[in-house]
Amino acid sequence: MRILVAKDAGYCFGVRDAVNLAYDTAEKNGDVYMLGHIVHNENVVQDLDNAGAKVINSLEDVPDDKPILFRAHGTAVETWDDAKAKHINIVDATCPLVLEIHDEVKKLEAEGRSIIIIGDHSHDEVVGIASQVKKSIIVSSPEEAQALRKTKLAGVVSQSTQTIENVQEIINIIMTKVFDLRFVNTICYPTKRNQSQIRELAKECDVMIVIGSFTSANSKRLTALAKERNAHSFQVTCADEINPDWLKHTETVGVSAGASTPDNIIDEVLTKIKEIGEVPEEVIYG
Ligand code: SF4
Repeated sequence: MRILVAKDAGYCFGVRDAVNLAYDTAEKNGDVYMLGHIVHNENVVQDLDNAGAKVINSLEDVPDDKPILFRAHGTAVETWDDAKAKHINIVDATCPLVLEIHDEVKKLEAEGRSIIIIGDHSHDEVVGIASQVKKSIIVSSPEEAQALRKTKLAGVVSQSTQTIENVQEIINIIMTKVFDLRFVNTICYPTKRNQSQIRELAKECDVMIVIGSFTSANSKRLTALAKERNAHSFQVTCADEINPDWLKHTETVGVSAGASTPDNIIDEVLTKIKEIGEVPEEVIYG
């Protein structure tokens, strides 16, 4: 058996930096607080909690003199303003590629365009992007794009982790509705790389394993891309969920992981597959 691991499987640099900053800040200050989970992965959240990085629901829950960490996928303008008004010490872990989306959407608004954001409703990143402009419409699917009214002037950005396929399909529909359209492709490059590796890998392998939490939209999108190309594709959250029967009579196993999956879980899954297949080493793909 051969094991091929996608080169960019797992944490993107934005999430990696944010998680490291959370550990460092907790260590320095005793505690640090975050409005929601820093990554959609239960193991990381628990580990961070043990280290002193706590999840809260509201700025009111931040104890005096303790910092708040704003997560990689960005924070709504109103929340920034509230935190500043309360004089809370803000540690900003917003990914620079999310900040670029904020800039692009503001430029589109300045051109007088109606704003359309392709992304998941109520996802924190999308909420943060929408907060940069006065008014926007969020479109998550081709069906929602079909329901848009005709407009003369519009600008479109997308959530950083959308699939190219979904965005293309939606843009094709929007083109029939807007006379003067400007689309800025804001799917981030780590997402593009991870998705393009899984598209190729799923076709090359007999079995494809995607590691990631079922609460992670990014991991679920990768699994969907794999399943479209390989019926023997499975998503697991940890090594214990690998069913040895999946790997019977298998020559090549592909492995990838969502942007919120930590290295140690990827290593555990690889160890398990190597044990089952009696393979000494994996090969990096991509
Ligand atoms: S998915 Fe892309 S935009 Fe989002 S945190 Fe990672 S690198 Fe940044």
